[in-house]
Amino acid sequence: MNYTGLKALELAKLIREKQITSKEVTMGFIERIKQKNVKLNAFVNEEFEGAIKTAENCDNILAIGGKELSPLFGVPIALKANMCSEGTKVTCCSKILENYISPYDATVVEKIKKAGMPILGKCNMDEFAMGSSTENSVNGPSLNPWDNSRIPGGSSGGSSVAVAAGLSPLALGSDTGGSIRQPAACCGVVGLKPTYGRVSRYGLVAFASSLDQIGPFSGDIEDNAALLEIIAGYDKRDSTSINKEVPAYSKYLNKSLKGMKIAMPKEYFIKGGLAPDVLEALNSSVEIFKKLGAEFEQVSLPHTEYCLATYYIIATAEASSNLARYDGVHYGYRKKDSKSLIEMMTKSRAEGFGNEVKRRIMLGTYVLSAGYYDAYYLKAQKVRTLIKRDFDRVFEKFDCVLTPTTPASAFKLGEKILDPIQMYLSDIFTISANLAGVPAISLPCGLSDNKLPVGLQLIGKPFMEGELFTLAHAFEKAYGWKNTVNTEV
Ligand code: GLN
Repeated sequence: MNYTGLKALELAKLIREKQITSKEVTMGFIERIKQKNVKLNAFVNEEFEGAIKTAENCDNILAIGGKELSPLFGVPIALKANMCSEGTKVTCCSKILENYISPYDATVVEKIKKAGMPILGKCNMDEFAMGSSTENSVNGPSLNPWDNSRIPGGSSGGSSVAVAAGLSPLALGSDTGGSIRQPAACCGVVGLKPTYGRVSRYGLVAFASSLDQIGPFSGDIEDNAALLEIIAGYDKRDSTSINKEVPAYSKYLNKSLKGMKIAMPKEYFIKGGLAPDVLEALNSSVEIFKKLGAEFEQVSLPHTEYCLATYYIIATAEASSNLARYDGVHYGYRKKDSKSLIEMMTKSRAEGFGNEVKRRIMLGTYVLSAGYYDAYYLKAQKVRTLIKRDFDRVFEKFDCVLTPTTPASAFKLGEKILDPIQMYLSDIFTISANLAGVPAISLPCGLSDNKLPVGLQLIGKPFMEGELFTLAHAFEKAYGWKNTVNTEV
């Protein structure tokens, strides 16, 4: 039997009821990866041996009647290549970390292991999570399973491809400006960026620390909620983690939307800003929500036009500081035969980092430098507060904000790689949630004219991931999305 089309919670149920073993399931996905990954390039580091060992362990625990097992016990998962897991390569798809082996587990990895989930390996990404297409990966791009000539989105493109193409039932990604939601939209899967502070960043290789958040990829909402429940929670090793109880997210599913209020920000629907087929899918989705009892109103988030500029100042400033540690001494790549320490560091960084990462480091050091700090970095921080206040105001009256996830469906490989501004514009609808620190989910809501998935984004109040699941789940049931590529041979 082929298990790759089944959802994670179904697999978990079959495993718990001993109709199949975790090892059989894990081997099934490993087989699928072996068949498909050569082409799709979703995994950059296969960790099959460890996965099989975990699966066998799970089966042993079940055999002796193990109790209080996690809801995803025995179900395999894939990680993004920027998450530390002990004894494995964590490269961030950069040459500078090509040989880095993590000596410890990230908190999310600890939680995944505790939940009894075999880790299949690490997934492809844009180098240090900088990009929207996975084309900035030292391992080469991943391909969109819906159309192999197109990008899968990024930076967590490998994770979204893994789930979309049935190489893994679940995956984790990280989202600094859209890197979970944008690839989820491009590949027709569900991706959630939790509230800043909901999931520990301990052991996530930092890109922009005030924006980064880890979140789940899944085939549907129910699986997403189950995985978030496992990875969320307070962690004293992350000083920005918030000590707030993790709700039982499954309790937020199968609820009525009657009386729920959804805001549509007019700045996200401006003429010419959206591909007509994306707009059409969004409009039909709104009709579905209305039939389910939700109420809509147009609102304004007046500082939206400053989001992109604000993001690219704050994110690059933080990145330039975070990436200073890659100096040829502490980690990874070192240029040999240098005559001085400075030469060694300069050459290690020059050869170890790719072009986009260098561009960000230069931008970041520029906006932080004496004389420019006030004009750029400080100003951006102030605008960030205004952006956050826009959301606070809307959330006084509304349960969530509905927008498209991306301005268009997946673009062609190579189409934007030489034009950074065009590439940055793919995140125009997703970065505001990171700047405001609020949760946001992308879920499939239709097909474009050329039969590619289109994503719908719901942005929620801080720590109200549950409400997002309520809305998304009701929509998902009413709309009935069909993934046609996860079982394709
Ligand atoms: N595409 C955006 C960037 O390149 C967002 C990346 C991310 O969320 N990690 O910065």
